[in-house]
Amino acid sequence: MSSSPKTIAEKILSLHSGKDAKAGDIVIADLDFLIGQDGTSGVAIDSFNKLGVNKVFDPHKIAITIDHSSPSPNLGVSAIHQKIRDFAAAQGIKLYDIGCGVCHQITPEQGHAVPGDLIIGADSHTCTCGAINVFSTGIGSTDLAAGWASGKLWFKVPETFKVTYKGKLPKGVFSKDLILRLIGDITADGATYMALEIGGQAILDLSVDARFTIANMAIECGAKVGIMPADKKVMDWVEKHSKRSPKPVEADPGAIYAKTLEIDVAKLEPQIAKPHQVDNVCPISQIGDVAIQQGFIGTCTNGRLEDFQIAAKILKGKKVKDGCRLIIAPASKEIMLDMIKDGTFQTLVDAGAVPVTPGCGPCVGTHNGVPSDGENVISTANRNFKGRMGNPNAFIYLASPATVAASVIEGKIADPRDSR
Ligand code: SF4
Repeated sequence: MSSSPKTIAEKILSLHSGKDAKAGDIVIADLDFLIGQDGTSGVAIDSFNKLGVNKVFDPHKIAITIDHSSPSPNLGVSAIHQKIRDFAAAQGIKLYDIGCGVCHQITPEQGHAVPGDLIIGADSHTCTCGAINVFSTGIGSTDLAAGWASGKLWFKVPETFKVTYKGKLPKGVFSKDLILRLIGDITADGATYMALEIGGQAILDLSVDARFTIANMAIECGAKVGIMPADKKVMDWVEKHSKRSPKPVEADPGAIYAKTLEIDVAKLEPQIAKPHQVDNVCPISQIGDVAIQQGFIGTCTNGRLEDFQIAAKILKGKKVKDGCRLIIAPASKEIMLDMIKDGTFQTLVDAGAVPVTPGCGPCVGTHNGVPSDGENVISTANRNFKGRMGNPNAFIYLASPATVAASVIEGKIADPRDSR
């Protein structure tokens, strides 16, 4: 293979296709893992059955989660869930049934992803695993079916946009604020079909859990993936979760970037994405008086142990304000058990939080936590489009778990830096 300098994305796609791949090339690449969820796998199964293939290429490299409408809210969804259960059993595929958690938490947590991997998932936030140096990207149901059959998929090698976060993160400011600021700055289509290569000291200072939040939202500025370096924190995290051997990949000196951007985090405030666009972002000092009727902490963006611990620290000994609700959905059963073990769960419930099944929770509006007309919700999720959470007449503000916790105490959007 030629030694032309490569970005992380170019290198992973080269290694998986056996080609000297550079931005703009089309390659057919071998897949390390494929994930489906209950909203997309029913169609993927129908497509797979039409291919005339009896068996998936390797059942050990495939999993399906029942996380979006979990447990099932109605007969139609129950029928899809049953179809998925039957398919998984017939193919010997690992099924993560109701209550196991969100696909993007399950994939790394259960050891299916290691640095250097190429992963696809029939869900747009599959980019989450970029935090552990994986080229991990969302695809449609028919592509998932083709991947199940062949273990391969075609890719147009993306150009790379290098984002460097420098400086020391101020108190009360978190990884969610870093990614909201980036999306606010470059807009929702600022990195369309690009690979974000995200690094810098401010990223290295973050925990791996906090880095997942940033990689998860890469798609919200159009990126195919948001890849980060495999430093010692990542390698230790992966060793704890996976038996597979990592193959970390770093960019070559002289790699060609389509764009570069440096963000100094030292003076960053907590950020809020206002309705109804994820790039409608302002610093919290500019938000004004916004009453809140519902808070939500969870999702593949911010439903990890650290997120709930941060919220619990703020809510300890306090109460969710009368007239306001707080729903919490751990991103996985493992996280829920850890929350119970360390007292985080008790603290949040004592403060008035209402736990729901580990999984997507109210994020996508399919089964619980649908806000009423005219209500304002503050959420740790990644999307605030009109109709997200199930009601086009509600208003969704996106923020960090700390900002959500501070806000439900006040019953209005509140700055977590003022919480004691
Ligand atoms: Fe999608 Fe929300 Fe589930 Fe994440 S938590 S996979 S954004 S529905």
